[in-house]
Amino acid sequence: MLSYRHGFHAGNHGDVIKHLCQLLILEKLKEKNKPFIYLDTHSGAGIYDLASEESKKTDEHIQGVSKLEGYQGDNPAILHYLKLLKPYTSDSCYPGSPELARIASREQDKLVFMELHNTEIGNLKRNIRANNVMIHHRDGLEGLLALLPPKPNRGMVLIDPSYELADDYNLVSKAATSAVRKWPTGTFAIWYPILGQRSIMKQRRCATMLEELSLLPVKNLLLAELIVEQDTADSGMIGSGMAIINTPWQFYPKIQSVLSELVEVLGQDHHAKSNLEWKVEGE
Ligand code: SAM
Repeated sequence: MLSYRHGFHAGNHGDVIKHLCQLLILEKLKEKNKPFIYLDTHSGAGIYDLASEESKKTDEHIQGVSKLEGYQGDNPAILHYLKLLKPYTSDSCYPGSPELARIASREQDKLVFMELHNTEIGNLKRNIRANNVMIHHRDGLEGLLALLPPKPNRGMVLIDPSYELADDYNLVSKAATSAVRKWPTGTFAIWYPILGQRSIMKQRRCATMLEELSLLPVKNLLLAELIVEQDTADSGMIGSGMAIINTPWQFYPKIQSVLSELVEVLGQDHHAKSNLEWKVEGE
């Protein structure tokens, strides 16, 4: 039984780093006229109401996107993200990864969204309609492997599980291993939480997943992490990261400057920091 609902967390600091990475990769793919494919294995509802009961219960967006909205700097990736968000946030909404992919893509691109939750799939179908979108009610990791290698053959995958189940880290690692074999040239962006010391078992599982990913025969693997607060005995998620396989050319300097701005704007104390590390370094 799936109990996680992204509506409780939409627009938090984890979404901010994830969606900035997603948009930077999509912008790179758009540099060529050739169509690309975007596969989203864990799509969620597509659009979230920040004034809903769910969202108000946690108000996580206040330490995330709502804080970033006051950004005064000139980082082009952050300004582009905020511009895309404006029509939603001005209506107290936040666009999730499928909606961001829809508005950042072109007619010729193909978008595939997968979601397993019985309620969220209905919300996703209601929220997102476009000619270039296909929505599947299925397990996203199983669906991913069934759809690879894709047509068109250039593009990206976003893997964004809730990691509700202890085995999720292992499942992501296994799926990524098979996926890169089937599609060696695809870019795979995998979100993961950075948890405080009270979640030591999950921390270890996450570290194992990242180690396993670093053994894959891929062009490169970059970890981009944002930590927003000190790890104390009762901390939950203190930050999050993106493991990016086959990172596009020139992504590194762009995300490096994004991260240094995010530390300033979203950091909650002087322990806030970013990490950017090549786990596999190639061309
Ligand atoms: N990617 C979304 C975004 O950035 O807007 C948020 C996704 S949320 C973190 C994770 C989603 O995965 C939830 O909606 C959950 O119902 C869904 N989910 C959980 N297990 C799944 C599975 N095996 N296959 C597909 N979706 C799953």
